[in-house]
Amino acid sequence: MPIELVHNRVAGVNYDSQMPLDPFADDPNDPASFLSPDEPAPPLTDEERLHVTQDLALVARFREELTPHGILGIFFLCEDCDDLHYYDWDIMASNMAATLRGELAPVHEPSLNPDVDAYVPWDYAAGFLDGINTSRR
Ligand SMILES: [Zn+2]
Repeated sequence: MPIELVHNRVAGVNYDSQMPLDPFADDPNDPASFLSPDEPAPPLTDEERLHVTQDLALVARFREELTPHGILGIFFLCEDCDDLHYYDWDIMASNMAATLRGELAPVHEPSLNPDVDAYVPWDYAAGFLDGINTSRR
């Protein structure tokens, strides 16, 4: 579930209380000292980066193919809020781009007053794209 990959990293983690002790605590070459305080997120693993990069490319395709059909974005059930969140394609893309830059995306700031009929689950959008690709072969 791509959205969960992005969402859980941001919403569910408290680095202050859950991180193991810093192994570089007494090391003057602590790699963390090179990080700006504005970029609190840990670096993505190569696998995570690949995932998010692929998702970002998918979102661009979703926007291209689904917007003409009146579909403006994705919704999913947020386990923190126990409520549905609605994301425009642009918000999705900027959240993923922020993740790739090592910044935390504002997952709990969904689109305001969404037209709920214009949003679909991620899997629906992926299936829609598969259908288009199949019919063009
Ligand atoms: Zn939420």
